[in-house]
Amino acid sequence: MDDLLAELRVWLNDALPKWKAKWDGDTSWDALCDWQRMSSEGKWATAAWPVEFGGRGLGTMEVLAIEDVMATYGAPQIPGMIGLKNVAPTLMKFGNEEQRASVPNIGSTDEVWCQGFSEPGAGSDLASLRTRAVIDGDEFVINGQKIWTSNGMHATHMQLLARTNPDAPKHKGISAMTLRMDTPGVEVRPIKQINGGAEFAEVFFTDARVPVANLLGPLHEGWNVTMTTLGHERAGVAVFAGRLEQRIRNLVEDVTKQDTKVSPIVADELAEFYVEARVLGMMGRQMLNKIAQGGTPGSEQSVIKMVWSELSQRVDTVVMEMAGIDGVTGANQDAAMGYLSARSATIAAGTSDIVKNIIGDRVLGLPRD
Ligand SMILES: Cc1cc2nc3c(=O)[nH]c(=O)nc-3n(C[C@H](O)[C@H](O)[C@H](O)COP(=O)(O)OP(=O)(O)OC[C@H]3O[C@@H](n4cnc5c(N)ncnc54)[C@H](O)[C@@H]3O)c2cc1C
Repeated sequence: MDDLLAELRVWLNDALPKWKAKWDGDTSWDALCDWQRMSSEGKWATAAWPVEFGGRGLGTMEVLAIEDVMATYGAPQIPGMIGLKNVAPTLMKFGNEEQRASVPNIGSTDEVWCQGFSEPGAGSDLASLRTRAVIDGDEFVINGQKIWTSNGMHATHMQLLARTNPDAPKHKGISAMTLRMDTPGVEVRPIKQINGGAEFAEVFFTDARVPVANLLGPLHEGWNVTMTTLGHERAGVAVFAGRLEQRIRNLVEDVTKQDTKVSPIVADELAEFYVEARVLGMMGRQMLNKIAQGGTPGSEQSVIKMVWSELSQRVDTVVMEMAGIDGVTGANQDAAMGYLSARSATIAAGTSDIVKNIIGDRVLGLPRD
């Protein structure tokens, strides 16, 4: 592990200043894609992938250590995280030869993938989705709508979930397939967010035709395929927990170094965050360790997701309070954006209500009425 992280530091000392000089403070989509491309060429962004797909075949603990070092160096976030972390492993597991050939393009950002799962009326209850895919010869004909599609405005490809057998029980009549976003009959509309961005999209399908060969996994068994994708998304909360821990350390360090005057109330809150983040970070590492040893994340995942998302919102609220009027006017962009963006943490990848249901049911075994 020490050699690996030493190699990473050498790479970062060379690559990060080059990227910063090239983009001069620009954090646009293109700038971040360039960072992803560089990190994939260095086999850092793709470190978890098997060697034959352009990765290093590393385990979750090593990947977390890499993320930690990246965070300490202030390396930018990878923009195509959904493709890299969720879709690529699904393509490797279920994809045919052509679908698997997409994997290296995901690293380089030549292909940007999104997840077309949620629909109006099918978010928490995803299995109620109504987008239809009807077989006509050697094609699926797709009609319906997706919503909250992250990176939808940039995506070149989608991992789509559609109903292929409306007569089967709801989890059993769904198929997963891959789709090019430039397919005729696919319309992508931006959704303007509270933080001013529009990275989300609504995606409409009107008689969009996709080859049956684009099926991902067996027909009508898309639910299992998607559980693989969401399993990777869920394991990712451990990485978020590690990042939040680092962020709180940095916050405390900045306040101390710059001798910033904080009220006793803020000081108390920072101390509380620090303790919670340390515990959260430890739980995250424990969960990844369990996965590394072949186990599946159970109750830890739900607990980490809930604590991480709610703690993130509390931290951003305090950062906003510390920014004072500059936060409200937006003069302090980081504070304002952080505050507004954190609102989604308790919704994405399972709302807090759903997570509490899971903890009540499966962790505590509480009786249902
Ligand atoms: C940042 C972000 C990124 C996302 N990215 C994607 C993406 O890339 N692709 C994609 O397909 N989707 C994406 N989503 C959508 C996300 O999966 C859904 O928003 C989420 O599953 C909740 O579904 P919903 O919005 O339809 O809310 P609903 O399910 O309609 O819930 C509405 C309210 O009812 C509550 N509720 C619902 N059911 C229950 C219950 N059984 N018990 C108690 N309370 C309940 C919820 O907690 C919530 O408060 C993203 C969402 C966010 C915020």
